[in-house]
Amino acid sequence: MRRFCPKKIFFLIAGIVFAILLNSCQPVLIAESQSLSSTKISASLLPVASPERELTASPAKLPPLPYDYGALDKAIDAETMKLHHDEHHASYVNNLNNALQQYPNLQRRSVEALLRDLNNVPENIRSKVRNNGGGHLNHTMFWQIMSPQGGGEPIGEIAQEINQTFGNFDVFKQQFNAAGAEHFGSGWVWLVRNPQNELQIVTTTNQDNPIMDGSYPIIGNDLWEHAYYLKYRNRRPEYLNNWWNVVNWSEINRRIQASSP
Ligand code: MN
Repeated sequence: MRRFCPKKIFFLIAGIVFAILLNSCQPVLIAESQSLSSTKISASLLPVASPERELTASPAKLPPLPYDYGALDKAIDAETMKLHHDEHHASYVNNLNNALQQYPNLQRRSVEALLRDLNNVPENIRSKVRNNGGGHLNHTMFWQIMSPQGGGEPIGEIAQEINQTFGNFDVFKQQFNAAGAEHFGSGWVWLVRNPQNELQIVTTTNQDNPIMDGSYPIIGNDLWEHAYYLKYRNRRPEYLNNWWNVVNWSEINRRIQASSP
């Protein structure tokens, strides 16, 4: 006859308790390591569409222009603004929605999240999501960082950081304009905060956004011919130079404050 053995039962219960503890600890550890790594690269995980929120893809919507088509006349004519917003930006929105139509799980992610993790977007729609998600995100930011009351010298934190990094605003503007003028073909010129926490001028091709390389976009200007050709024809440097007359420094200050660690 088998005898009741308290030692065996003790080890059995201890084993079960240990297994339960081990199991329940694992997700906590993963969550902790994720939150630690996200603090280190916080700038690259910030919402890009605006400093407060990410851009929804369920469905993507064309945001209204925050001013009249002719309001940025100091730099951009009304016809260009109308075509750029109502046709070009609208088609990025429509194409993104079409690409995601069969993928409800992807629609639940923000545009920023899709672009940061393109490898997890199915290959048959990856370039559509990259080009049209990027186009939607870039233009959403672009309308916000311009204003009829814009232009002039930078103020606040952006002024300080530009002076620290580039010496003064004129030097920065020259470097930004030169990078935009030298960029071959379509794309964007940016001031970003890079993963080393430095301000840097970079360009991207097509509709790529700097978050795809872990940088946070603070200022971005559109180098596609559709942004300037009606008024400036092939004179991209003249467009780049005039663009500073409509730059919305208060919105750019909100972006640089959001990007500061
Ligand atoms: Mn454009």
